[in-house]
Amino acid sequence: MSPTTRRSFLTLASGSAVALSLETADLKGEQLPGQPPSQNSGSQDKNFSNVMAIAAHPGDAFFAMGAPVAVATHLGGQGSLLSLSLGEKGSPTIPTEQYGAMQREAAKKAAAIIGAKALSLTYPDGEIPINEEAKFTVCDLIRQYKPLTIVTHGKGSWHKDHRACYDILDDAIFYAGLPSLVRKEPAHGVTRVFYADNWEDATGFTADTYLDITAVFESWTNACSAFPMWRGETGFRYNDYYGSLAIARGCLSNFHRAVALMSPAEQRVQHIRTP
Ligand SMILES: [Zn+2]
Repeated sequence: MSPTTRRSFLTLASGSAVALSLETADLKGEQLPGQPPSQNSGSQDKNFSNVMAIAAHPGDAFFAMGAPVAVATHLGGQGSLLSLSLGEKGSPTIPTEQYGAMQREAAKKAAAIIGAKALSLTYPDGEIPINEEAKFTVCDLIRQYKPLTIVTHGKGSWHKDHRACYDILDDAIFYAGLPSLVRKEPAHGVTRVFYADNWEDATGFTADTYLDITAVFESWTNACSAFPMWRGETGFRYNDYYGSLAIARGCLSNFHRAVALMSPAEQRVQHIRTP
């Protein structure tokens, strides 16, 4: 783990892929043998000073999107994790109400471990509605917590709640940034959106950004372990999957541990000025 005095973000552009790094002792996301040449801008990425994960369920927020939030708090910034539902129908054995309460508690505990804030809405699990009320509720939370970067679900999910979250957020971000739309809080423009590398949202996911999570890997996985489902109790081995995915993504980006992210198409557009 790198000492905080050595924190620095390196932005490496390699074709359309970008590597965002907290400087670490051994691997720095440098070019891998055989890869096309990459540029190192050496600039600090301020967009990671306030990161908000917005997910359908707490497990998605923490397991698939939590590491970038942990990076933000590790850098002395702010992090928050919002789930639109408590995921209360996720247990095959525990009654819905009881499991919802357990999920809420786990989210609180997990957020405290990474120095972030857990936010939960209570739309019914499996039935998250796509409507104006939900969009304005999320808009208001974006205005309140003012994230520069949002990590969320991509479009290609087989889970209906994840697709609902994608649709809600698309408009919520637009509403949040519209100054003429008067709400309790003033307008706030989100600078960047990333789609998470979520096993349930794999269709169409293409990594274009790698974020170095080496410094936060341990605290992030500790946070995730606050959820019983992390250990596979609901049928999917989240700990094995996301733990080893961080290693695999690290191999591809030449960081010790990394998460892959996908930018929306409009965010991938580059402007190259000719002097
Ligand atoms: Zn989910």
